[in-house]
Amino acid sequence: MTDVRIKSPNLDEIFEKWKQRAVRSDKKKMEKQFGTKGAIFSLDAISAAEYVKDIKKEIAIYFAIKKTVGEVKTKTEEKSVLPPKVARETFYSFKGKAKINKDDWKGDDMVPLYETLKTIPCKNCNGKGYVENKCKTCKGTGKIEEQLQVLTGEEQKKEVKPFSYSCGVCFGTGSHKEQCRDCGGYKNLYKYQILPVPFKTVVTGIPVLHSSAQTKYEKEIERDLHQMIEEVEGIRFNDFKELESKSEASLGYWNKNIKKTISTAGSDYKSYSKDKEAQITTQIYLFPMIQMFCETKKGAKFEIYSLGSANKFMIYSNF
Ligand SMILES: [Zn+2]
Ligand SMILES: [Zn+2]
Repeated sequence: MTDVRIKSPNLDEIFEKWKQRAVRSDKKKMEKQFGTKGAIFSLDAISAAEYVKDIKKEIAIYFAIKKTVGEVKTKTEEKSVLPPKVARETFYSFKGKAKINKDDWKGDDMVPLYETLKTIPCKNCNGKGYVENKCKTCKGTGKIEEQLQVLTGEEQKKEVKPFSYSCGVCFGTGSHKEQCRDCGGYKNLYKYQILPVPFKTVVTGIPVLHSSAQTKYEKEIERDLHQMIEEVEGIRFNDFKELESKSEASLGYWNKNIKKTISTAGSDYKSYSKDKEAQITTQIYLFPMIQMFCETKKGAKFEIYSLGSANKFMIYSNF
C-alpha cells in the first residue's frame, strides 16, 4: 500500500514502445501503412502527435486466487441393460483410499463402476425369461374335444361318443411360452452406475482481471499478469475499502466506468472471500490503463493499450 500517486506512462513512451514492437514483428506492414513514396522509411518520422486521434484513461484491477478443484461433480448416471451389453462394457474399480492423479488419467471423468453392478430379476416375466399365453387351438385346456359317430349293431343305431386328444399345438400344456419382451429371455436385467473418477484434489491458481476499458485483450492481459506480475507496476491494496477510498487520488483521473469497474471487482472479490474452495493469494493491484485510438496514413484504424505505470508497463495492440 502506498499514498503516492502513480504516474501513468505518457503517450510518446507508449507509442514508442508500440512502434519498436510493431516494426520488429512486421516491418512491411509498417512501411505500407506509414511510409512515404520515394522516401526512405524511418521510424522517427512516425509520431504519436500525428497518429493518435484520441485517448481514454482507464484502469484495470487484478488479483489472483487459488481454487481447490476436486472430484468431478456431475450427477450419477444409472444404466439398466441386458447381459450381452454388460459383457461388452468396460468397468472400472477404485479400491482403497488412493486418489487418482487427474493429469495421469487416460479416460473419461465419469466411468462405469464394477462395484455397483447388480442383477435385477425381470419384473415383466418374474425372472422366468418368458411369458405364458393361453393356447388358442385348445383354449388353454390342452385337449381337443371331438365326437365320434358310432353305428351299433345290425340296425346301425347312431350313437355319439366323446373323443378327446392332446392338443398338437401346445403339446397338451394349454399354453405357449413366448420370449419376454423386457428381458429378451435372459431372465435378468443388470444395473450399474457411471460415477466420477475419484481424482485427487488439485489446487490451481486463477487470475482475475476487471478492466474499465472495452478491450479484446482481457484474457491475454489476465494470463500475462499471472505470469509476470512483477513486470508491471500498479498500486497495491490489502482490501477493497482501501482501494475504493484511495484510487481516485492515486490515479489522478476518474470516470463513471472506473467507478463501476471498482464496484464490480469489489463484489467479485467479496464472493471469492466467501467461497470455501477459493483463497485469494495476492494483494489487489490497481493499474492505470491508457487506451489510444490511432489512424495510419492509409486510414487504417487501430488501438494501443498500455497497462501499468511510467516505470513498468505492458502494451497491447490490434495493429
Ligand atoms: Zn422378462
Ligand atoms: Zn393347445
